[in-house]
Amino acid sequence: MGDQSRHLFERASTVIPGGVNSPVRAGKAVGIDPPFVAKADGCLLWDADGNEYIDYVCSWGPMILGHAHPEIVRAIKESAERGTSYGAPTELEVKMAETIVEMVPSIEMVRMVNSGTEATMSAIRLARGYTGREKLIKFDGCYHGHADSLLVSAGSGVATLGIPGSPGVPEDLAKHTISLPFNDLEALADAFGKFGPEIAAIIVEPIPGNMGVIVPDEAFLEGLREITREHGAILIFDEVISGFRVAPGGAQELYGIIPDLTCLGKIIGGGLPVGAYGGKKEIMVRMAPEGDVYQAGTLSGNPLAMAAGLATLNLLKQGDVYKELEMRGKMLFSGLETAARSAGVSIVVNHIGSMGSLFFTAEPVTDFERAKASDATMFKRYYTTMLQSGIYLAPSPYEATFLSTAHSEEIIEKTIECATVALRSLDAKIN
Ligand SMILES: *Cc1c(COP(=O)(O)O)cnc(C)c1O
Repeated sequence: MGDQSRHLFERASTVIPGGVNSPVRAGKAVGIDPPFVAKADGCLLWDADGNEYIDYVCSWGPMILGHAHPEIVRAIKESAERGTSYGAPTELEVKMAETIVEMVPSIEMVRMVNSGTEATMSAIRLARGYTGREKLIKFDGCYHGHADSLLVSAGSGVATLGIPGSPGVPEDLAKHTISLPFNDLEALADAFGKFGPEIAAIIVEPIPGNMGVIVPDEAFLEGLREITREHGAILIFDEVISGFRVAPGGAQELYGIIPDLTCLGKIIGGGLPVGAYGGKKEIMVRMAPEGDVYQAGTLSGNPLAMAAGLATLNLLKQGDVYKELEMRGKMLFSGLETAARSAGVSIVVNHIGSMGSLFFTAEPVTDFERAKASDATMFKRYYTTMLQSGIYLAPSPYEATFLSTAHSEEIIEKTIECATVALRSLDAKIN
């Protein structure tokens, strides 16, 4: 790590817990101190010491069009000049809602919030209010933000840091959450057999991206829809990552499954803090002030975030963005497989379109149990070598690799070359 980053991390660590404002950023799992970012452009990042990196974190998903996209920057600037927040309704919010309703198949009405966490927390409150039930089903290794009910067997930083649950979450609350293995219809049927009439909702990442990327069995996703319908429970798709990432209408469009409620975040804010939840009108009208389920936000739908988000969504609707991203994804992820084969290292690469991940294991990775069985030490070594060669990956084996439209074929080729060297050096160390 460079001197500037090291110095900043020391300063940060005295005034910010762990030196970071979100745990995984600290790089503990891969044994590094984090580079501090000074600026970014397209698919590139520069740290405080002037080192250049190819960025595959993309702010953990949002930057699907690359950093500092001129049209998004312009939208933010123009909006800022008209004032940054009014706490009153604006036309931008109407346009945003109309765009979401148009793009996401299941959404008839939508409410804007400020983060993915707020979106899932509010969707669950709504599902509980609407059904009058309390129990919630989630899946091991899925991460839905840090609200109390959702930190049970969670992915992302909770998995990376090996936290079994979090102190501060009341047992009385956690007991309403049932966590089941992903892709396992039998476990699901058992849970509904036992608790059916008490289950308010299933919340699921239809394409999990917080235990690494897991490809869902289509029959599993269909099973979720069937069993919730049968038992009068709400099906919540947490598409905070997959929304606008795998298709304009997210995983629900890709797999043709209509959930009752959908949570959005990340891409929808164009790099500003935004979340949203929406779904069937009949359910959404239960929200205050039309209905009795309460949720509010001082900065919700604020003009800067709406401007950045709208500019992003409008760009995503144009041309063949998703075909292009799909092609780049194939190129990168199959390139990594080839690199590993030539290096004699066993890896499994899971990917859908422009999101994917690499597991150091020989067995297929279809759930959290199998993701955890992958070799974390190998990942750590791979990560460190990649970082030294200027490839910025998420510092955890449980996070996704994201591509943007700014990742050119040339950049991807360069990345695969670096990965080949990194993977070969791993093999040398094992033998
Ligand atoms: C990131 C994420 C969240 C939480 O979003 P924040 O904006 O970090 O609160 C929720 N669900 C999923 C699937 C996510 O990846």
